[in-house]
Amino acid sequence: MTMRTSRAALTAVVASLALALTACGQSSDGGSKEEKKGGKGSTVGIAMPTKSSERWIADGRNMVAEFEKLGYKTDLQYGEDDVDQQVSQIENMITKGVDVLVIASIDGRALGDVLGQAADQGIKVISYDRLILGTENVDYYASFDNEKVGVLQATYLVDKLGLKDGGDDQGPFNIELFAGSPDDNNTRYFFQGAWKTLKPYIDKKQLVVRSGQTQLDQITTLRWDGGTAQRRMDDLLTKSYGSEDVDAVLSPYDGISIGILSALKSDGYGTSAKPYPIVTGQDAEVASVKSIVAGQQTQTVFKDFRTLAKQAAQMADAVLNDKKPEVNDEKSYDNEKKVVPAYLLDPVSVDKANYRSVLVDSGYLKASDLK
Ligand code: BGC
Repeated sequence: MTMRTSRAALTAVVASLALALTACGQSSDGGSKEEKKGGKGSTVGIAMPTKSSERWIADGRNMVAEFEKLGYKTDLQYGEDDVDQQVSQIENMITKGVDVLVIASIDGRALGDVLGQAADQGIKVISYDRLILGTENVDYYASFDNEKVGVLQATYLVDKLGLKDGGDDQGPFNIELFAGSPDDNNTRYFFQGAWKTLKPYIDKKQLVVRSGQTQLDQITTLRWDGGTAQRRMDDLLTKSYGSEDVDAVLSPYDGISIGILSALKSDGYGTSAKPYPIVTGQDAEVASVKSIVAGQQTQTVFKDFRTLAKQAAQMADAVLNDKKPEVNDEKSYDNEKKVVPAYLLDPVSVDKANYRSVLVDSGYLKASDLK
């Protein structure tokens, strides 16, 4: 072999190696584990649970805007509370070659297999608002302090009933408890916060749960459905409240509160002789804020979804650029396979006294929305 031919051969080897490397870096139709994700123009797969509540519509919209600002493309899908549909939407995103996934799960335990496929393609996963359980293939978690949501709801009830200031002989008051969907990990955090706040008063019999239903598995509401909550409230009123009135209802979410209030209204509540009990909520949905202004629902918990979307976009942007996202909690959210590093935002209690300053003055809702 002459010097000339061996150099030519070497050049050919180098060229084909370079080609192989470029092909590896460019493959967007499925990609490979070594593929470098990220960069402007990358696509973010956003899987949201349902359009049946305002908040998730806003979350999707806010995230698309945040990602576009950062120069990314998005593929936004809603699973309509159908677990299989959400799984196949995520599968499709992986096949289409998204570069990162942001997921608010319907059933926190149903995504192990599909996230295994994502990991095989080197796609990182941000768990959005709801923690994905039972898989190591979740990289970061962006949410609110979920236990604090329950603490805020229960503290509101305790304060309004005057239990803290009134001494041990304040009460007894009748209370009923509702929780969210059993397959949503947030449900147990919300209830944990509420229960630890209410339990001392239940133990002292200043609060009485006439139905006796205080265990989480007795009080959950599948898919956070308002109609389901309404039927349960109807049932509680019929079976446990003959001559007695209910004074307070712990409700975890505005859609559930609206269902509870309908059942109460049908039972004759909402008059001066029989006023509505104190009813909590969450999400500051327009219908519930209007209900608060009208003196029906009493409280809600505001979670600024604009900030959450921004946080999730920053997390995804960091992982796409091989940086560590900002987190502020590395101990609370164990998904049974790992403790998922989280950024938790602060929820705020809202009622008739502060809805204007918290919701309207901040530009979250317009005064005209509440007409
Ligand atoms: C969210 C709440 C929401 C509920 C029902 C929970 O996972 O954290 O904000 O009210 O789902 O959609």
